[in-house]
Amino acid sequence: MRVGGPNPVMLQRVNELDDRFPVTDVHLNSVLSGDTLVAAIAEGRLYLVDFYMLDGAPDGDYPHGQKYIYAPMAMFVVDPKTRTLLPFAIQIKQQPADDNPVFTPQDGWNWLIAKTMVEVADGNVHEAATHLGRTHLFIEPFVVTTYRQLAPNHPVALLLAPHFEGTLAINEAAWRHLIANKGAVDKLFGASIKAARGLSAASIRDNPFNDIMLPDTFEKRGVADGDLLPDYPYRDDSMLYWSAIEKWVSEYLAVYYPNEGDPQADTELQAWFAELVATDGGRVIGFGEDGGIKTRSCLTKSLTLIIYTCSVQHAAVNFPQYDLMSYTPNMPLASYAEAPTTTSGATEQDFLDVLPPLDMAELQMNLGYLLGNVHYTQLGQYKKGHFTDGRIAEPMNRFQQQVTSIGGTIQERNTTRRPYEFLVPTGVPQSINI
Ligand code: MN
Repeated sequence: MRVGGPNPVMLQRVNELDDRFPVTDVHLNSVLSGDTLVAAIAEGRLYLVDFYMLDGAPDGDYPHGQKYIYAPMAMFVVDPKTRTLLPFAIQIKQQPADDNPVFTPQDGWNWLIAKTMVEVADGNVHEAATHLGRTHLFIEPFVVTTYRQLAPNHPVALLLAPHFEGTLAINEAAWRHLIANKGAVDKLFGASIKAARGLSAASIRDNPFNDIMLPDTFEKRGVADGDLLPDYPYRDDSMLYWSAIEKWVSEYLAVYYPNEGDPQADTELQAWFAELVATDGGRVIGFGEDGGIKTRSCLTKSLTLIIYTCSVQHAAVNFPQYDLMSYTPNMPLASYAEAPTTTSGATEQDFLDVLPPLDMAELQMNLGYLLGNVHYTQLGQYKKGHFTDGRIAEPMNRFQQQVTSIGGTIQERNTTRRPYEFLVPTGVPQSINI
C-alpha cells in the first residue's frame, strides 16, 4: 500500500526522530529483534508516512451520524535481510499523550484497528489531494487555457489535445455528483465534505508547478535511492515513463523551436502562459521562468509534467480505486468508531465497529468499480492523422516503441517482485477521462 498502492506518494525517509512521534527501539524490536533506530537511520532504512494535513479536519456525519478521521503517523523499517518495508509503529493522533499511544504489531486487534485508521487517512488524502486535487483539478486550467489561447493547429495545442480529452467532462461530473453536498464523498469520507474540498484546494496551493517534477519529488522525500529502498514499484515504473515522455516532448518541440530562445517570440504561447498564471485566470503557481516561458527547455519540462500527469500519474492513482479500494475493509474511507486509547484489550467486535455499515461499503465498492475500471485510450496511441506534419512521424514512432519497451520491462519486473500492474501500457490512458 505504501510503495504500490493507491497513494504511493507519501512515504519519506526519516533522518532524525520527531518529538511528535516518540518511537523507541522496543517498538522497532516488535518486528526486528536486535535492530536499533540509530542503526536504521544511519543506514537509510527508516521511513515515515505522516497525515499531518488532516490534523483538525472536522469529522463528517452524513448520512448515518458521527464518523471519525484522525491525522496518524506510521513508521516503517527496511528489513536488512529481505529488503522489504515493514510497518512497526503507528500513532493515531499527532500529539503524543497517555491516551494516544504508539501501537505495534504486538497489539493484536488494536494493531489492526490502528492500521485501519491509517488507511482511512490515506484514503481521504488519496481521493481529495493526490487524485482529485493533484491530477484532475491541477490539469483543468491547462485544458481551458489551451483552448482559449492557442490556435487548434498550434504545435503545443496539437501535442496536448489528446491528453486533455474528456477531462472537463469528468471534472464537471465530479463537481456535480461526487463532491456535491450529500454526494458520494459526503457519504463515504470520514472528513466532512467542506474539509474534503479544503484538502483538495490546499493540495494545489501547496504544489508549485516547477517544484513537482517527478524525479525531484522522489529526491525531496528521500526515496529516490533504489539501494536504500529497493522495493518501490511506483517509483521505478513511473520514472521510465517520465524519461520517455521528456524525450518525446523534447524531440517534438525541437521541430518547431529550433533554438533555445524561440518560445519567447511565440505570442500565442506567451498569452497562454499569462492567462495560466493570472489571478483571474488559471492561478497556476510556481510556473515558467521570469514571468514567461523564455526557453525551449522550460517549455519541455512543463509539457513533460503536464502529459505525465494526464497519463501516468492519473493512472497510478485512479485505477487502484477498483483493485485496492473497492474492498472496503482494506481501505475504508471513514471510521465509525473512535480511536483506541490503550494498546491492549480490543476485540474483533471493536474492529468491526470501526468499519462502515453495509450500504456505505456497497457504495464504496460500486464507485470503485465505476471509477477504477474504465480504460479509454492508451498513452502514445495518437489517432491516425492527428499529426499531419511529416517531421513528427519518427519521434512519435520512437515514443510508441519506448512505451512498448517499458511494458516489457514492467512485465519482467513483475516476475521478481509483488506484481504492480497499474502502469502496464494498456492500463495508462492518454488523458484524465474517468
Ligand atoms: Mn480519476
